[in-house]
Amino acid sequence: MTLQELRQKLEQFVDTDEDHVIRPDYAIRPEYAGVPFFDAPLVCCADAEDPLFAQFQADPTIYGPFFRRPQEWLPGAKRVIAVFFPFTKEIRDSNRGKSEQTSDLWLHARVEGQAFLMKACRQIAAWLRAEGYRTLIPAEDEAFGMTRQFEKMSEGCPGFVSNWSERHAAYAAGLGTFSLSKHLITEKGVCGRFGSIITDAPVEVTPRPYSDPFEYCILCGRCNNNCPVGALHPEQGAARGKDLLTCAKYVDETRVRFAPRYGCGKCQLDVPCETGIPRVALGLDAKSSEG
Ligand code: SF4
Ligand code: SF4
Repeated sequence: MTLQELRQKLEQFVDTDEDHVIRPDYAIRPEYAGVPFFDAPLVCCADAEDPLFAQFQADPTIYGPFFRRPQEWLPGAKRVIAVFFPFTKEIRDSNRGKSEQTSDLWLHARVEGQAFLMKACRQIAAWLRAEGYRTLIPAEDEAFGMTRQFEKMSEGCPGFVSNWSERHAAYAAGLGTFSLSKHLITEKGVCGRFGSIITDAPVEVTPRPYSDPFEYCILCGRCNNNCPVGALHPEQGAARGKDLLTCAKYVDETRVRFAPRYGCGKCQLDVPCETGIPRVALGLDAKSSEG
């Protein structure tokens, strides 16, 4: 299967699958039933032996030895397919406003939308397996693990460490670059969800149209204007300017307030990176992130 064929099949799946919209049996309010989570997804592909994966593992300020390279998840792996599912305008519009609490639609998108994204990843894996290839979805594997290490942040280490990262896989695949708000800025912006599938299928590798991990973030600080707890500090630079502890504490509170759902996402809205690359949106250059 070519990447273009995969993109077309995935787009059709997103358009037609029953779980792509809020279902009436779990909708917080009856009028939310039928609201779709995502626009057409972006799909890119990294070489499983890209030196970046070894770098993520070797550098404790990125991930360190806890991180597993693609071949450590799936021996013989050739590719990492990375997907970005952008939230629809209806989902995004529902959650605007710093002082407002997280919207019901955003909570649905964060939880049931995420579940649909994983279903789409399983579908991609099924298509590849039907052609005789092997697949593995790290986020659903029993070996997947994540931990917090806020005490090491003063040494330049990340606050959260996991043995796989959807954003780092997407970065390696050419989908986009990291932001002050710790999202990945794609050609469709930051507002959405990421997933990845490791496979031995020889799908074509997409180019990375950037060299700096923070190339697309213009450090405008608009994301902090929307943050209810002021966790973003552009003056400290994109790599270290997010107070992860303060953000995590706030998001943890939403787990109590909105159980069984949670979420915030205010830093993804009303910002120049909401639905595109800021420099492109502002007319400063014409870079595109998808090959
Ligand atoms: S709002 Fe500005 S500073 Fe914040 S992530 Fe987007 S481009 Fe970077
Ligand atoms: S998720 Fe919410 S609390 Fe965390 S940085 Fe973004 S706006 Fe702030």
